Amino acid sequence: MSLAARLSRSAPGPGPLHVSDDEATLARFSRDWGGLVHARPGAVVRPSCAADVAAVLAFASDTGTPVALRGTGHSCFGQSLTEGGVVVDLGGLARVHPGTGREVVADAGASWRRVTESALARGLTPAVLPDYLGLSVGGTLSVGGLGGASHRHGAQTDAVVELEVVTGRGEIVRCSPERDRDLFDAVRAGSGQCGVITRATVGLVTAARSARRRKLYYRDVTAFLADQRTVVDEERFDHVEGRVLREEGAWLYRLDATSYYLLPSDVDEDALLADLSFEASLTETAEYSYGDFCDRMADGERLLRDNGEWYRPHPWLTVFLPDAEVADVVGQALDTVDVGDSDTVLLYPLRADRITTPLLRLPTPATAEEPVWLFGLLTVADPHDPIDLARRLERNATLHELVTAAGGTGYPGSALPRGCVDWTRHVGDAGSAWEAARRRYDPAGVLAAAHSW
Ligand SMILES: Cc1cc2nc3c(=O)[nH]c(=O)nc-3n(C[C@H](O)[C@H](O)[C@H](O)COP(=O)(O)OP(=O)(O)OC[C@H]3O[C@@H](n4cnc5c(N)ncnc54)[C@H](O)[C@@H]3O)c2cc1C
Repeated sequence: MSLAARLSRSAPGPGPLHVSDDEATLARFSRDWGGLVHARPGAVVRPSCAADVAAVLAFASDTGTPVALRGTGHSCFGQSLTEGGVVVDLGGLARVHPGTGREVVADAGASWRRVTESALARGLTPAVLPDYLGLSVGGTLSVGGLGGASHRHGAQTDAVVELEVVTGRGEIVRCSPERDRDLFDAVRAGSGQCGVITRATVGLVTAARSARRRKLYYRDVTAFLADQRTVVDEERFDHVEGRVLREEGAWLYRLDATSYYLLPSDVDEDALLADLSFEASLTETAEYSYGDFCDRMADGERLLRDNGEWYRPHPWLTVFLPDAEVADVVGQALDTVDVGDSDTVLLYPLRADRITTPLLRLPTPATAEEPVWLFGLLTVADPHDPIDLARRLERNATLHELVTAAGGTGYPGSALPRGCVDWTRHVGDAGSAWEAARRRYDPAGVLAAAHSW
């Protein structure tokens, strides 16, 4: 009997389970956004409630069937795929519930776009959002969820008040800092290896009305890094990111510094830009509504879908670097890549003391104020050149080694060949708590079985 038929028969859920194993569905769930790994599941379940997820996990645990979790499938190296196992498509659990006070309650498959729209209708917003709002709540909470506001407010996982989780054993548990803390800490940034987040309660802050983004350009990397340190240390802006660009054979560095405001008079431009050494003649400034600023990737996404680049392979690598090593490691990394027009290189500071999620591993800064750096090599590859693809993955593996040797860490979801990352080493001193949680909540290892870094 097929896996789908066994699942449909044995799962004791409240209603019929939506299980598919038709060719079109299996093909759709055989690849992720990275487009580098192909793994064909035996069946895809689209749950409509947490009890459906619990039924699938109980079945999987009894039968030793691997389970992969899929939010919107934006992983880069098959993290949301399984060969022969069950994919749980959380797209069926995508409601944002009317929240009360300064909180929003969202099902795990809801996109951050829907969450933000719902919060903004009440004049509120999540303090930290990813650059792209099409990602699912469960997907970013399972890696951390970082953005330009993280230097002030930490990761998205730090703003979670409570989670509803279905464990690997098929139990539905509500966990929080006060209740089943071990599970709460094991699923936030835990890459879906201990349980399935089915619902999240997320804290909100008052939303601004408008945003002013300045793109400040530098030709000198030392000045660029120094100014980023200053603006983050002094919290001059609400949102800070940075890019490394290639222009006419030379590197150009861009500090994206955004202020949120209610009234234009709230922003003292001179004070904000004082003592920064950007190339003034190149500066670009744009005004947005706050909502449009949050969803600023939407136009780019449409364009990339139209020109087909969205569907090309994405061997993305994101790592975190200690301050003392950032210039050297980034310099070495940039020597090894050809940055084309379609590629994005991110480089911006975070504050480790604002990030409290145990499994979101960052380098240890020398002082509380010292930043750590997010460095993302987000390249797009030619789908018809397997040798180039293999080289890019090799380069990622070499860079990851360089980064870890320099005291840095990797961000799950990256495109790293299997075996590059030792999870136990990655989680460091959070390892024993994580191991204990895994033994307790997924003793059959059905969630870990499908997982790759
Ligand atoms: C265009 C783009 C922009 C991005 N921008 C940012 C950014 O600004 N900031 C940032 O931090 N990251 C960013 N990322 C990375 C992104 O946060 C991760 O890849 C994230 O996991 C993707 O979410 P998803 O819903 O697509 O997850 P999927 O790809 O579907 O799943 C990825 C992983 O999450 C786990 N998972 C998914 N849902 C659940 C769940 N409900 N419970 C438990 N585990 C689950 C899966 O097991 C898997 O390991 C970006 C990625 C892309 C492609």
